[in-house]
Amino acid sequence: MGLLSEGSPLDWEDTKKLADHVRKHGIIQFINLYKRLRDRQGDVLKWGDEVEYMLIKFDDEEKKARVSLRAPEILSTLNEKELKDPTGVKSLWRPEYGAYMIEGTPGKPYGGLLAHFNVVEANMRYRRQEVMDQLKNGEVIMSLTSFPRLGCPDFTEPPAKPTPTSGASRSLFFPDEAIFPGHPRFKTLTQNIRYRRGEKVAINLPIYRDENVAKPFKENLLKLGDDGSSEKAAKDNHVYMDAMGFGMGCCCLQLTFQACNIQEARTLYDQLTPLCPIMLALTAASPFYRGYVTDVDCRWNVISCSVDCRTSEERGEEPLKNNKFRIRKSRYDSIDSYLSEQGDRYNDVPLTYDNDIYKQLLDNGIDRLLAQHVAHLFIRDSVSIFSEKVHQNDEKDTDHFENIQSTNWQTMRFKPPPPNSSIGWRVEFRPCEIQITDFENAAFVCFIVLLSRVILSYNLNLLIPISKVDDNMAKAQKRNAVKDEKFWFRKDITSEIDKDVDINNEYAEFTINEIINGKDGVFVGLIPLVNSYLASMNVDADTHCTVQRYLKLIQRRASGELLTTAAWLRKFVMTHPDYKKDSVVSERINYDLLKRVHDIQTDVDPCPELSGPYTTSKTTEKIPAAIAKAEKCPIADC
Ligand code: ADP
Ligand code: MG
Ligand code: MG
Ligand code: MG
Ligand code: MG
Repeated sequence: MGLLSEGSPLDWEDTKKLADHVRKHGIIQFINLYKRLRDRQGDVLKWGDEVEYMLIKFDDEEKKARVSLRAPEILSTLNEKELKDPTGVKSLWRPEYGAYMIEGTPGKPYGGLLAHFNVVEANMRYRRQEVMDQLKNGEVIMSLTSFPRLGCPDFTEPPAKPTPTSGASRSLFFPDEAIFPGHPRFKTLTQNIRYRRGEKVAINLPIYRDENVAKPFKENLLKLGDDGSSEKAAKDNHVYMDAMGFGMGCCCLQLTFQACNIQEARTLYDQLTPLCPIMLALTAASPFYRGYVTDVDCRWNVISCSVDCRTSEERGEEPLKNNKFRIRKSRYDSIDSYLSEQGDRYNDVPLTYDNDIYKQLLDNGIDRLLAQHVAHLFIRDSVSIFSEKVHQNDEKDTDHFENIQSTNWQTMRFKPPPPNSSIGWRVEFRPCEIQITDFENAAFVCFIVLLSRVILSYNLNLLIPISKVDDNMAKAQKRNAVKDEKFWFRKDITSEIDKDVDINNEYAEFTINEIINGKDGVFVGLIPLVNSYLASMNVDADTHCTVQRYLKLIQRRASGELLTTAAWLRKFVMTHPDYKKDSVVSERINYDLLKRVHDIQTDVDPCPELSGPYTTSKTTEKIPAAIAKAEKCPIADC
């Protein structure tokens, strides 16, 4: 999403009427862009991260921590620099769903030099500092996946009250003031998703069953102004949430890669897919919701349910009458099909799509795999249209395509080049939760980028059936998944596919430790592969040291020697002197927890249980000229 406001959103009635219009022109726009760009070649590796942050305000007298709704104000100051010098700034700032959230990316994407791994963390620090310079007394910026007391009474600064009978969310817990106000997009999406679904969204997370949790655990929602609908949607023994903000109000870490051409992008999209649940489990960082300790460690299902616009017919709860399809998943979920020829044999989940659209794509020279991918994305209706964008030039514009594409929030995104730009075919890696420190976030970013290079250089094959990736997504979110769960993974990732081998013999269950660190004589391990790749490269001493610290962090997280963020957060709460074994994150516990998080984040009091011996690397803001020159060996060969 760009800097400027997108215009005036249409109301739901008009949006609904235009659903077919957007689909029809979106498909034509995709066909046109495909014809223009299918043969585009020779783009080099570029990549960049996206970090989402929360603004928190401490009240040291009352010992409370609240989310601060000043993101719009801070964002407009941050954006001034970019407006003056769009190509020269070191960071770019964008709005996010919450009025307490902002998203920061590097000013320019990184390139193919190994030495780029040494500037990621410094840039993240720079970004954090840039925001810190705008903060008022008591305010801090945090990279925190979920605010533990989001949706509890009095969780915002300034205070705001939920409005169950009016406004965009109609939530019992989440006030509309907590939605980013400058961009009409967020409120419109919230409202239209609710209208399309025909009721409020419903999120039910199993509560963590500590000794003093009531049996059954059931809240009095009528007291909060429920008209009966929440009571019906809320499950016993679950933490119930009823607004888009509970999901889209979480922060995450994303990565985008540019591929040299469309084929490479399709390969990367597929090969990174089985890693999504693994990286979700490894980055797990969000065990608390609406003031409770839950039995899950990740945000994924929360967001998935928070934007689930499917009607009860589409969800399979009623016979189809007014809707066209049964739809298996929310528009926010893991991907349903692979895109490369190699991946075809692992597409074992039946795909829902409109046959006419599929056929239209085929008739225009688009191959079966890409056609079914796009047709599947296009089973969704638009949930937000701006009046200025209704009529478009399908030869040049791509807004209708992007309208549907960008509201299919999946683990991976296949991004075509934007119109009139120098940008190539890209893929986005979207599952990771955000970590407390820049060191950890940089570590995960560099690890994934390195893996992508190893995959391409060694021609690795990580593919397993899509249904098994789906199973892994469910496992990844469970409490302590890294330690307790086994994940489906391909047994031999370095050999070519042997078509005579039964697919079901190609994969087995592994622990995350085995997947990351290897298992003697059984599985090679991802980090050993990354290390053997690095050993063949010419890397300067500082970058080498930085990368080794990152890899060590990931190895120790995988082995259980270090805690995941989620495990550490749980431990802090459960051992807090005020904790009553009732799975409640009280105001005071929340305050103390976030104070501790802040001390870790600012390196005032680092946490060896989370990071090990190092809390930073040899990171520098710029690649020294001598190193850039010396590093003749670009990491992308195409
Ligand atoms: P979105 O929110 O749609 O995912 P953003 O613009 O917020 O996209 O983030 C895109 C990321 O891609 C940023 O990290 C940016 O640095 C990076 N990026 C920008 N241009 C390229 C490119 N040509 N190739 C790869 N990554 C790029
Ligand atoms: Mg975004
Ligand atoms: Mg973004
Ligand atoms: Mg974002
Ligand atoms: Mg993104």
